[in-house]
Amino acid sequence: MNQAYEQLQPYLERAMAYQAALILFEWDNETLAPAQAVSYTAKMQGAVSAAYQELITGAEVVKLLEQCDQEGDLSETELAVIREVKEEVEQLACIPPEEYREYKELVSESGGIWAKARENRDFEAFAPTLKKIIDFQKKFASYRAKAGQKLYDVMLDGYEKGFTIERLDQFFDKLKQELVPFLQQIRESEADLRDDFLTGDYPEEQQQELAKMLSEYVGFDFSKGVLAVSAHPFTTALHNHDARITTHYSERLSSALFSVIHEAGHGIYEQGIGDELTQTFLGQGASMGMHESQSRFFENMIGRNEAFWVPLYEKLQALFPRQLAAIDRETYVAAINKVTPGLIRIEADELSYSLHILIRYELEKQLIEEELAVEELPGLWADKYEEYLGIRPEHAAEGVLQDIHWSQGFFGYFPSYALGSAFAAQMYADMKKKMDFEGLLRLGDISTIRECLRTHIHRHGKIKESGRLLREMTGEDFNPDYYLNYLKEKYGQLYGIL
Ligand code: ZN
Repeated sequence: MNQAYEQLQPYLERAMAYQAALILFEWDNETLAPAQAVSYTAKMQGAVSAAYQELITGAEVVKLLEQCDQEGDLSETELAVIREVKEEVEQLACIPPEEYREYKELVSESGGIWAKARENRDFEAFAPTLKKIIDFQKKFASYRAKAGQKLYDVMLDGYEKGFTIERLDQFFDKLKQELVPFLQQIRESEADLRDDFLTGDYPEEQQQELAKMLSEYVGFDFSKGVLAVSAHPFTTALHNHDARITTHYSERLSSALFSVIHEAGHGIYEQGIGDELTQTFLGQGASMGMHESQSRFFENMIGRNEAFWVPLYEKLQALFPRQLAAIDRETYVAAINKVTPGLIRIEADELSYSLHILIRYELEKQLIEEELAVEELPGLWADKYEEYLGIRPEHAAEGVLQDIHWSQGFFGYFPSYALGSAFAAQMYADMKKKMDFEGLLRLGDISTIRECLRTHIHRHGKIKESGRLLREMTGEDFNPDYYLNYLKEKYGQLYGIL
């Protein structure tokens, strides 16, 4: 028995409690907190963050971590806990506490500034705040950077280990070369899929009923989770017995429908983490990309799969007879897969989705590595949308102000969305070899698929890195060809392009 490891536990328990408090503050800010609460609550969030930093970087914890190494005799899980705590200490110890607190207060207020600027379509109102956040991010990254390491690489490392600028450049170049012309072909194709019936008078009450039914159907466990409403759907978790998802309702049925399956996928991941890991530093997803792979797997490989709707479509029609009684299943399934290059990432179809991410990746790289001035963002943003998707935003709210991420200091996060989609496609190809995937969906059996993901991915929490999980599940290193082949096959068929 490693005594230092035992002595470390009470400190880690306190650290987890602080983390949970911060998660609850955020959850509350996004769901129920009144508008005027923000700047007041921000002060408390700053104080709790500071207390967390003080605890985790304190002399006692640092000393015990060293002793753990000296004493040795640690299990794989214990070693992984130590690895994660050390990394957290490294991340935070190099930042002066005053700076950390100032930054935390800034990002808890900046969400409100961003939201207002977006409402007013006024990028200039947000630009000074964005500049401050970028300066902090670059400064923090420079504290953490190893000799010769690029600042954007430091940021990327925080979300997806091993995916450096060099590797992501290759990945995104490939997507750009293959998907931009493919999308162009689809835009020029003769196929004209109708999806008008997905927008209309869909009463919120029935949509709520549908959201609950679908999330339960795919396996979200309401005894360990809740579903609430927020402006932007998201998932958070206190531990594996408390996963929280949100959705939003609009006149577009497919919007809430797929966002709820997406968030349920995130929630199922959290609920599937092993009990022995929960409330430890390993009780979370392996990485942002791996998390996104699960949500997008549920949303697209399951939710937009024709077979998924075989046992469900009549129930959907029964909920919305006025809108859907005259629409057959085939027409409906084509509609939910219709490719319509648009300006808004979260409304994007499955095919053009990664191009939205490509644009953000290119701009982030320029902001961090090439001193791009924030004032130039709106124009460049618009140019890239025109080049890759063939459309141009008319104002900042449908352009550069649409995402919350930068206002929260999440630089290096966006690539996880595209990587997640690609991870999911590799898993899907593997699972199709091992089981009758579509046959199971047709029978309404989601649990066989879910259990497979649980066994290979969910239960391991953060013990292993995403690349290793993927390799152990599929027997192969990450290979983006699966993603490209999947998209080309699926959409080539739907649009009659070979
Ligand atoms: Zn997601």
